[in-house]
Amino acid sequence: MSDKELLSEVDGEEAKAPDTSGDNQNHKEEYEDICYICRRPESKAGKMIKIPSNICICADCMQKTFDSMNQSGFPMGDMSNFNPANMPNMPNITGFPGMPNISMINLSDLQGMMPQNQKLKKKKPKEEKEAKPALNIKAIPAPHKIKASLDEYVVGQEHAKKVMSVAVYNHYKRVASDTLDGIEIEKSNMLMIGPTGSGKTYLVKTLAKLLDVPLAIADATSLTEAGYIGDDIESVVTKLLAAAGNDVEKAEHGIIFIDEIDKIAKKKNTHQRDVSGESVQQGMLKLLEGAEIEVPVGANSKNAMVPLATVNTRNILFICGGAFPDLTDIIKERLNKHSSMGFRADLKDKYDKEENLLSRVAVEDIRKYGMIPEFLGRLPVLFTLDALSEDMMVRILNEPKNAIIKQYQKLLAMDEVKLEFEEEALLAIAKKAREKDVGARALRAILEEFMLDIMYEIPKDDNIGKVTITRAYIENTGGPVITLRGYQALPESIVSQ
Ligand code: ADP
Repeated sequence: MSDKELLSEVDGEEAKAPDTSGDNQNHKEEYEDICYICRRPESKAGKMIKIPSNICICADCMQKTFDSMNQSGFPMGDMSNFNPANMPNMPNITGFPGMPNISMINLSDLQGMMPQNQKLKKKKPKEEKEAKPALNIKAIPAPHKIKASLDEYVVGQEHAKKVMSVAVYNHYKRVASDTLDGIEIEKSNMLMIGPTGSGKTYLVKTLAKLLDVPLAIADATSLTEAGYIGDDIESVVTKLLAAAGNDVEKAEHGIIFIDEIDKIAKKKNTHQRDVSGESVQQGMLKLLEGAEIEVPVGANSKNAMVPLATVNTRNILFICGGAFPDLTDIIKERLNKHSSMGFRADLKDKYDKEENLLSRVAVEDIRKYGMIPEFLGRLPVLFTLDALSEDMMVRILNEPKNAIIKQYQKLLAMDEVKLEFEEEALLAIAKKAREKDVGARALRAILEEFMLDIMYEIPKDDNIGKVTITRAYIENTGGPVITLRGYQALPESIVSQ
């Protein structure tokens, strides 16, 4: 089979004009070679070395072959000029003396066994999106506009959304302004405290999407001081550069979110070197403030083979988030201390029942928790997220632009089935989710459990027109209400007869 035929077969098209046509040339350019050994396409493995019989081998595999031959004691001499094309009739030698594991074969013997051409259709470059980002850094939107955009996706957390909108507004104003007048606006890195599943990551993700800036999400638990097992601190910048498609300028305006920041609190009562706690905080200081960091491009670690790029973190917005469990005890202790003095002394358990005690946090509480003052000083914007109430959970289920319920409704609408939820059913789901204590994350898991049967059964029967999820179904005491197509119309037609 000729190249041409093979290509058309892969593409599912008829064989067209002869090879010389420009059209055909374009057609060929849509394909790329694959390495015969590692099977990687040219776009991944780099330029291929072509040897007879239409075999392509990538430079890495070629090098590895030479290396292993060298190690086996085979006198390779200087193989850098090796060109198999110059020795087309290589003899068929098996078990070459001195090379116990290597057998040479005549490549032309493979002719019949191999496809004529090993090519892979190149991925089409994604079409440039015309859609403009909802918010544009150049014409920095006012905080109320940023918040209004966040409102479409994030339910509740009014205070957090307000603080974030102002901080982001100031941050990008700072980026846009030059400092010739000598007044340098301070960086508005943020520290976000909120229970798990309250929407910390979701807020940051939404913000980055709205601003159309690259976002890197890192987990503080995996970070260690450079030289120890784990990711070193600068790896967060590497992630951001990758998220920016290796565009340094874009990365320098991006956002880095470091989750689980409470896990790098200073370890108490330890006599060993605290490589994943205080040292990580120390190591992050210069990053938070702004430093030139050399990061590997297209790889996770620095080594001689990867190029390095210098990224300045001065304009990168750092947002740290954590649940800080037991922080409420420290807050309570502080509040009790204040209120137990003097004539207006309060009862000791006054704050025990307060719901959102976390919102009364002060920097000294976090310092007591184990964050070092220098670190906290570089995160000047401190705010908390509320624990989600049942009410908020119900709203999360159906209010946001891409609410979970809307997603299911869309899926069923494709089968022309209407999906409805009773108000009471939503409340029952929220109640179940609250019991799990993992915030809004439980909502999807619970809903998925109940929707599984529905998504499985409904497409079986074309007559079903509507499904109503009831409270009884969620509480396992009944089932959903199924309405058949045309059922509503039926009584009317009977009446008219
Ligand atoms: P965490 O605070 O632990 O980072 P996440 O941000 O990952 O929690 O939240 C988990 C999921 O819960 C999100 O993907 C989002 O769908 C949902 N969620 C949480 N809070 C809200 C909220 N306030 N509004 C809308 N969805 C939310």
